[in-house]
Formats: sequence, structure tokens, C-alpha cells
Amino acid sequence: MAVLPILETPDPLLRRISSPVEEVTPELQTLIDDMFETMYAAPGIGLAAIQVGVPKRLLVIDLQEPEEEGGEPVRRPLVFINPEIVETSDHLQVYNEGCLSVPEMYAEVERPDRIRARWLDRDGSSREEELDGLLAICLQHEMDHLEGILFIDHLSRLKRDMILKKLAKARKLAA
Ligand SMILES: [Zn+2]
Repeated sequence: MAVLPILETPDPLLRRISSPVEEVTPELQTLIDDMFETMYAAPGIGLAAIQVGVPKRLLVIDLQEPEEEGGEPVRRPLVFINPEIVETSDHLQVYNEGCLSVPEMYAEVERPDRIRARWLDRDGSSREEELDGLLAICLQHEMDHLEGILFIDHLSRLKRDMILKKLAKARKLAA
């Protein structure tokens, strides 16, 4: 397994539309393992393949939520290959989102709070489930990456420009 470099905005690859996975091969499963290692190391709760430069419709999620309040985070790795949203609730929820490709920046984004999604898992088996809460938010955020969309695209131009300016400043300070 390997920690892969994560692309950051404004890398043009992040704007690319990812293509469907044709077949779940051992190579793809290695990529999945590397994506988990990369996500845990970052650390983050979701990562799309395009964020490590691979334009395939594949993403991984692990909310790493503790069993009980104040408890140790528990790893529950989820793999989504060729995910599709088949139904969304009318009710929206606001969540303060961040992204490994827009490091250290957060903003409130409104999304449907419940979705029904269909995807292939790590073994290529078909799954369909209704998801809610943070998992629903996270899946929608990661699925945006497959279309070349970042969470900052959901913000007003003013807010987006503010974040990009802050990011540029933080990079200059770090350089
Ligand atoms: Zn992201």
C-alpha cells in the first residue's frame, strides 16, 4: 500500500469528468487500498479517485465515527464504484464541508439530507441503499468530484473567491 499525492485546486485534472469503471480488477483493488491509506493519512473521511489523479468513477469513504460519544473512532471503510443517486429527499441539510483538494478551508453547503444510491462495492457486487446524515452528505460531495465539481462551486462567487484568496495566502506563508 502507498500514500498517494493528493491534487489540490486549481489543478485542472480536478475539473475532469471521470469515466465509468469497466471491470473490477486486482489493479483497481490496489488503487482502492492506496486511496484508503491516503485518506487515513491526510486525514479525511472521503476521497475520490480523481483526487489522486485517476479519472475513474470510484470513491472511498470512512466516517471513522466513534461507537459512543467521546469514544475511539471506529474504521468502517466503504467503497463506491460507478455510484448513482436514484432518489433524493426534498429536505435539505446544511453541513460545514471541507475537502482534501481545498486544504484547511471550510464552508456551509446545503444538500438533500437523504438519498437512495446504487453502486458496486469492492468485489464488484451491486448495492442499493438509502443513506442519510453525514454519509449522505459525504457521498454527494465525493460524487461531485466525479463530475469535476468542488464544494466551493456550490457557494456564492463572493464566498468562493474569499476561500481561494485565503488558500493562496496560506500557500504563500507555507512556501
Ligand atoms: Zn472533496
